[in-house]
Amino acid sequence: EAEREIGFFFPPEQTLAVIKPDTQHKEVILDEIRARGFTVSRLKDTVLSREMAEEFYKEHRDEPFFGQLVDYMCRGPCTMLVLTKENAVDEWRAAMGPTDPGEARETAPESLRARFAKDILQNAVHGSSNAAHARDKIHFIFGDISSENELICDLEAEESFE
Ligand code: UDP
Repeated sequence: EAEREIGFFFPPEQTLAVIKPDTQHKEVILDEIRARGFTVSRLKDTVLSREMAEEFYKEHRDEPFFGQLVDYMCRGPCTMLVLTKENAVDEWRAAMGPTDPGEARETAPESLRARFAKDILQNAVHGSSNAAHARDKIHFIFGDISSENELICDLEAEESFE
């Protein structure tokens, strides 16, 4: 019996998600995130400086779209999120859908980018592509939040206790 329980236990994982500026769908996207079973462990609205946006996307600094991407990310407030769930990194990537909304509408019509992205640049949401990036970006945006409490708390749940 005990072995079976251990066999079915997967520890929750965390990823960094961003609702990008100008989406006009922040609340719908947040509802969708919770409906898909993610716990919102951290949330903050931040207007990124150019330096922060460049650092955040430094893996893309040699891409032709880097300048536009940094302009876009600084244009208004980003909603920064730490999402917790089993397999959160891959599940959040799947929930977002492909980078290009045209492709998203064809291959993943229920995805957030299929529904809310304007174009390949202004594509509504970001998510870390692997666990190492998730750790780095969570630390970059939120500092050290590695305590057990942070893993399990949901902001909405926490607010309702106050
Ligand atoms: N991007 C763009 N043009 C492209 C590819 C990407 O403007 O041809 C932007 C887009 O906002 C994307 C971000 O750069 O979300 C990072 O690109 P990446 O390839 O990492 O896509 P993602 O991981 O966000 O799906």
